[in-house]
Amino acid sequence: MEHPENDKEYKGLQVNAGVSSQPVTNPYRTRRRRPQLTVSEYVEGILKGNVSVLGQAVTLVESTADHHQVIAQEVIEKCLPYSGNSRRIGITGVPGAGKSTSIDVFGLHVLKQGGKLAVLAIDPSSERTRGSILGDKTRMEKLSIHPDAFIRPSPSAGSLGGVARKTRETIVLCEAAGYNNIFVETVGVGQSETAVHSMVDFFLLIQLAGTGDELQGIKRGIMEMADGIVINKADGDNVERANLAAAQFRNALHLFPPTPSKWVPEVVTYSGYYELNIDKVWDMIDRYFDYVRKTGYFQRKRNEQAKYWMFETINEELRNNFYRQPEIRALLEQKELRVLNNEQSSFTAAHDVLTRYFEMLRAGN
Ligand code: GDP
Repeated sequence: MEHPENDKEYKGLQVNAGVSSQPVTNPYRTRRRRPQLTVSEYVEGILKGNVSVLGQAVTLVESTADHHQVIAQEVIEKCLPYSGNSRRIGITGVPGAGKSTSIDVFGLHVLKQGGKLAVLAIDPSSERTRGSILGDKTRMEKLSIHPDAFIRPSPSAGSLGGVARKTRETIVLCEAAGYNNIFVETVGVGQSETAVHSMVDFFLLIQLAGTGDELQGIKRGIMEMADGIVINKADGDNVERANLAAAQFRNALHLFPPTPSKWVPEVVTYSGYYELNIDKVWDMIDRYFDYVRKTGYFQRKRNEQAKYWMFETINEELRNNFYRQPEIRALLEQKELRVLNNEQSSFTAAHDVLTRYFEMLRAGN
């Protein structure tokens, strides 16, 4: 059809017919997509220790798509009876404390005893930065090429609670795939320690001598969670200072009430970079596991954690469901304004929104 602007009225203007788009170079080639496995294919692959299937299953767990979650949850459920047979160790420390250097050598150390190691990470900042600074393969040079190590960066979707839940689900899959050592790394700057603490058997805090971080650890309640404190970079000129810091930590630990396990947290100095005293660190961790297995605390804590995650998941889902409702979102916007303008109190506003939500639930929305 002739273009209307080619009318005489539009002098000097000529619109040419467009060209049709080029055909694709190879019409038979479609975008390659990995075929979606069935639940039993996932489970079978995982139980066989197939790393590629495990990786795909973890991706599914991390996906926010509902249809992925349906499959993921089934896979997790089927893997659950095969899980649990591992040592779950949380590792935290401020950026620069030497987490990746240490995990690299710790990892090789535990792998020397046989078995397999999964390194997972919880990094709540990854949502904002669109990339994780933890659990990155390139940070762990030796482990990343080890055939028995599986390294996975932090899932990046959702709230800290959501990210942590996905990591916990990933632990189940890794254990079913035969990974008998699980490290969960977190950056020591916030709430993420609590999340990690709630999914590991042993919590290791990496500290540095003389940086003032000691106090921060106390303030943020991280020291109370630690089953072991290790002071890194005890090498060269720094040995003396590291020993001094160790003594200070030991003193500080006396001020805390006994841990629920009755295990007395230990303080060890080591050097991740020069690989000094690595066996001392692991001797402590081995003794801890012997101790809690003997006292029954190991299983008690895992049971507590399983319960905790059930309630965490319920809370998370309820919250998500609430905030996803378009009507609730609109109502919240109105209420927010009213509260800001002092037209309504925060409490009655909250109550009104919740009442509306419960009404919607009753009406089957
Ligand atoms: P992360 O941010 O906690 O993962 O810390 P990194 O493992 O990246 O280490 C931070 C810096 O400290 C790097 O430059 C490391 O080479 C250095 N480093 C790590 N461990 C040691 C150690 O045992 N001794 C010394 N002298 N330097 C170390």
